[in-house]
Amino acid sequence: MMGPPGSGKGTQAKKIAVQYGYTHLSTGDLLRGLAGKTDLTTEESQALETIKHGNLVPDELIYKLVFHKIEDSIRAGQGVVLDGAVRTVEQAQSFNQFFVDNNLNQEVLVLEITLTNEEALRRLSGRRVCARCGEIVPLSMAVDSCQKCNGELIVRADDDAEVIKLRIRKQGNKAMAPVIDFYRQLGILKTVDGVQSIEEVERSIAKILEISN
Ligand code: ADP
Repeated sequence: MMGPPGSGKGTQAKKIAVQYGYTHLSTGDLLRGLAGKTDLTTEESQALETIKHGNLVPDELIYKLVFHKIEDSIRAGQGVVLDGAVRTVEQAQSFNQFFVDNNLNQEVLVLEITLTNEEALRRLSGRRVCARCGEIVPLSMAVDSCQKCNGELIVRADDDAEVIKLRIRKQGNKAMAPVIDFYRQLGILKTVDGVQSIEEVERSIAKILEISN
């Protein structure tokens, strides 16, 4: 799953994972999960700082976080939804090599959820997440706690106004264009309009997955 910050890729990735019984692997969630570890390596602590400032973490850390998880899932006979795992052309090439090495390259589909940078800014500036289950709640929804698990709703550290602008500059449409082109040239890219409602995006993705399966 690809798309600028705020495009809804996390929301849709979770839905796909539930519907198809796939493992949901969000590099953002995995990185934020490091914050709870007591024995962080220097590389990991630096990565947590990097995220707070809206920058990308080093490629090698991403590979360490996800490659073995993909292998575990595939070995267990489960598919995988990679959520935001590829954000540079170098990463796209390394993932591609990993898929080739594991004989999975015929199985990969890239779903891009499109959104303008302006809409991304509007959405991210108004969202909260559940500290317990990760459910995303728009600010327009006037609730005090998570409707799914009753957990506390918090604003993510990197959803601060200035950091949002930085993330959009560094990870928004312009920055991601070469990665999208890489997948377009491979012929495995499908695009969904992310301005639609969550349900409409879900239906558009379902149609694509039905055709591809
Ligand atoms: P977003 O909504 O901004 O896409 P994520 O939760 O997916 O949020 O990611 C949060 C942060 O984690 C990113 O801003 C970036 O700093 C870091 N990150 C996630 N995936 C990658 C990746 N593949 N390469 C480098 N950094 C990443």
